[in-house]
Amino acid sequence: MQSQNTLLKQDSHHVWHPYSAIHADTPIYPVKSAQGVNITLMDGRVLIDGMSSWWSAIHGYNHPVLNQAISAQLQDMAHIMFGGLTHQPAVDLALQLVKITPKPLQTVFFSDSGSVSVEVAMKMAIQYWHAKNQANKQKLLTIRYGYHGDTFAAMSVSDPVNGMHSLFSNTLIKQLFAEAPNCTFDQSCAAEDIAPLENQLKEHHAQIAAIILEPIVQGAGGMRFYSPEYLRQVRELCDQYDVLLILDEIATGFGRTGKLFACEHANIAPDILCLGKSLTGGYMTLAATLATREIADTIRDGKPGLFMHGPTFMANPLACATALASLKLLLDSPWQETVNNIQQSLTTGLQACQQYEHVKDVRVLGAIGVIELHQAIDLKTLQPKFVDAGVWVRPFNKLIYLMPPFIISDEQLNKLIKAVCKVVAEIEY
Ligand SMILES: *Cc1c(COP(=O)(O)O)cnc(C)c1O
Repeated sequence: MQSQNTLLKQDSHHVWHPYSAIHADTPIYPVKSAQGVNITLMDGRVLIDGMSSWWSAIHGYNHPVLNQAISAQLQDMAHIMFGGLTHQPAVDLALQLVKITPKPLQTVFFSDSGSVSVEVAMKMAIQYWHAKNQANKQKLLTIRYGYHGDTFAAMSVSDPVNGMHSLFSNTLIKQLFAEAPNCTFDQSCAAEDIAPLENQLKEHHAQIAAIILEPIVQGAGGMRFYSPEYLRQVRELCDQYDVLLILDEIATGFGRTGKLFACEHANIAPDILCLGKSLTGGYMTLAATLATREIADTIRDGKPGLFMHGPTFMANPLACATALASLKLLLDSPWQETVNNIQQSLTTGLQACQQYEHVKDVRVLGAIGVIELHQAIDLKTLQPKFVDAGVWVRPFNKLIYLMPPFIISDEQLNKLIKAVCKVVAEIEY
């Protein structure tokens, strides 16, 4: 194996990282392996994972059951095109997703990443209205602080400020935005919370194909938690104004917020649902867009009678087989109790951070813990402090947040929380 220094030098010269620059001066850490909730760096240090590789690795790393699912599928085929062909892992996974998601969702479109599943959802909504002879309904309406992905259409409905829309002003589709609600998860929703969205609907519903939202938890756009009552009212408004509801559960899906899907907090169902991230337990890249039977039938019966999308690696068998195994692991486990326990430890443990003047807010929902600061952090100085403290945490902007793998032990979780609180205590401006 080449030395760590050579690897880092080559990486720095030639390899892009997420939201980063070539030759950046922010630190990068070479990983040798990962096992359970432990990430082993090339220099031998072992870190407790607080990120689940961005919401994904809910069962931890190198899980024997998921490893076995991949090996078994590999004996049959790694991949096969999905145009004109089908296979057991795809059909089984589609049936399972239909079974565990809200009832009206009956059809599944597989794609290879969350952003693409959002593109697919937006296209479905537009094609649906086109098929109903309402081709004027092409706009999407959403709220501020959202995040729906990095491709252009997904970016067009992500927060205009955080998403740097000004950079792409001539290329980006202009969508409709409303102020986000201020009611927190355990508050009721006041008239002024819903009014901005309702006003946009009143004025523009004839051009709006769908509202797109992250239910209950807004992720990368600000880690905000809002009231289930708000989501219920959005559902009612969609029906009232003849607008579809797309819910993006790419981050929140599969138990993270304490319910299997975050929309269950509000007891509502979307017309279109996007899933990704932890779908395969963080093993493979796979996403899915679910839609109602009515949407699927309307698109088939309209013109051109086809849905206009088809990724090369659609329904990759390795990914589908892994997702099936990951879902079985999750659903056979006492995941609600597990997430509840993580919620309690995060709530108790992170409370200690609230005392510091530079901390604005500490909030927890399910297996998500957020420490919001008054000022943006300096990643260059903060990242090494977390690594020195033996934990992997990746803050952004004013947010330090934790979403550990569900399999984390009490002892590991307490270590993680203690380390984070220690680093937060030492932040200086
Ligand atoms: C991560 C994320 C996406 C984008 O998924 P990718 O797989 O990164 O393309 C979209 N929506 C939400 C809510 C996400 O958290």
